[in-house]
Amino acid sequence: LRPRRIALELSVLAKNDRLASENRKWLSEHGVKTLNIISSPGAGKTRLLERTVERLNLNDAQPARLAILTGDQEEDYDAERLRTAGAEVRQINTHSACHLDAAMIGKELSTFVRPGQHRLLIIENVGNLVCPAAFDLGESHKVALLSTTEGEDKPSKYPLLFRRASLIVLTKIDLIPHLDFSLELCTQHLRRVNPTAPILMLSAKTGEGMDAWIDFLMPQAQRERSPLPA
Ligand code: MG
Ligand code: ZN
Repeated sequence: LRPRRIALELSVLAKNDRLASENRKWLSEHGVKTLNIISSPGAGKTRLLERTVERLNLNDAQPARLAILTGDQEEDYDAERLRTAGAEVRQINTHSACHLDAAMIGKELSTFVRPGQHRLLIIENVGNLVCPAAFDLGESHKVALLSTTEGEDKPSKYPLLFRRASLIVLTKIDLIPHLDFSLELCTQHLRRVNPTAPILMLSAKTGEGMDAWIDFLMPQAQRERSPLPA
């Protein structure tokens, strides 16, 4: 029965939006900037985060400021990789679900994120270009990753994510010489759905573009610091 199905989906999203607002309120009250990183599987989310943690850990007291929640249907491989890189990380397994939702994040906030210490929370969503874009988690920004190996036209085929992203990261740019990939065409597809979001090109492998990525992360965290009581 189609109308019933549509009503059910709307109520699922409405409930999620309500919980996401609660998460957003909690995170903002505690001065935690939150990024929701979304891409297809294999675009390089975990690799980028490994390199990010390693870089931040080089800078004195930075590691205490970053917490990572990583989502996959099953297994904790990504949490293990990130822990090895030096991250404070918790794995969320979604089992039958193909996206994280606000309730899953809400459950972790009070037991995992330490107010006053963590200034930045990065959520690595389940690899999927479709429904993670529809499920608000309470994040400050969605970050869309797109890898050069996926082809240029993904933004036009899956516009919702790229439209809602505050930042678009093109990953694996070191592979461009080996691929039939047109940066110009890819940019055209991105600009069709999102005329304004910055596009950051990087290679976690060679380190190209990593400085700009870190600059995006840390000033954000500082700017969101809760004001001192008067
Ligand atoms: Mg991953
Ligand atoms: Zn889903």
